[in-house]
Amino acid sequence: GYKKVLEENRKLYNQVQDLKGNIRVYCRIRPFLPGQASRLNPVEDVDDRTIEIATTSKHGKGKKSFTFNKVFGPSAKQEEVFADTQPLIRSVLDGYNVCIFAYGQTGSGKTHTMTGPKELTQESMGVNYRALNDLFQITEQRKDTISYDISVQMIEIYNEQVRDLLATDDVINLMNLGHKNRAVGSTAMNDRSSRSHSCLTVHVQGKDLTSGAVLRGCMHLVDLAGSERLDKTEAVGDRLKEAQHINKSLSALGDVIASLAQKQTHVPYRNSKLTQLLQDSLGGQAKTLMFVHISPEHDALGETLSTLKFAERVSTVELGAARTNKDNTDVKELKEQIANLKAALARKE
Ligand code: ADP
Ligand code: MG
Repeated sequence: GYKKVLEENRKLYNQVQDLKGNIRVYCRIRPFLPGQASRLNPVEDVDDRTIEIATTSKHGKGKKSFTFNKVFGPSAKQEEVFADTQPLIRSVLDGYNVCIFAYGQTGSGKTHTMTGPKELTQESMGVNYRALNDLFQITEQRKDTISYDISVQMIEIYNEQVRDLLATDDVINLMNLGHKNRAVGSTAMNDRSSRSHSCLTVHVQGKDLTSGAVLRGCMHLVDLAGSERLDKTEAVGDRLKEAQHINKSLSALGDVIASLAQKQTHVPYRNSKLTQLLQDSLGGQAKTLMFVHISPEHDALGETLSTLKFAERVSTVELGAARTNKDNTDVKELKEQIANLKAALARKE
């Protein structure tokens, strides 16, 4: 019992240390939706770190591969996705700042990952709900040693304007209300949700009941505006204005994360409302995770490639490096096994 808990904690602790100051990128591929033809699928999850895109150009057919910290294929369950996010989320209770983004074109599954589908079930709940449940469960478990105070805020950024989506006190109700408010906006304004960023923020204050020491952590869970570029013919009036704001804020975010990833001294936080709001939780000791979403359809290929390129730019994963290490380990192990078998054979002779 006790030993196992210690061991488990150490594992989590190491994972958390590992994440500190790092930018991780997880890629998730949406399944084909009911009724969609899956014949022309150019996207393949080769293994749990690699995604391959079939391309055609004037030079003929080719393949482009991208490596991330993790790739979730179309059949990945919400539970699996959360399991790989949990250590990061829990670290907010230990006083870390955490930022999790969902990036991708409209329809690629950002809201599915962060919130879940329209008809929510226990199984289909997204990261937001699971994160809050997890945090409350842990604070309950720790209540004899640490007293936690948790507050939740939900905002929307639309055309560089910040809007508060909440007004009451009970967290889960609050969140449902926040999502409803966002949806109301969306019917009234032709799917506004895909053209605004929504951000669930959790502030944590923990007081050690013995020493009186206080720690503070903050977590942002962000469902970003759709990353697709607008068709030139559509880009007039309000649509053009929205597109420009989205473009500007997503580039600003990309620039901030890329400059953090490259450990540059100047980080350009002030170029958008989004990066200003998240400043405290991006960089330094904060931990950042970006979920990059991919639509599987052939029609989405252009956007898919530009999404993957964006992700590659903000990622600190060295192409192929991790794989090479793993391969070396595998080869080393195999060599040892062969040597052992040979020795065993020699003894028999
Ligand atoms: P976005 O927020 O990026 O615009 P959505 O999350 O709304 O995209 O996803 C578009 C549609 O695809 C929704 O109907 C959603 O329920 C469905 N969907 C997205 N991801 C998945 C998934 N992993 N499994 C099943 N359905 C999904
Ligand atoms: Mg959405």
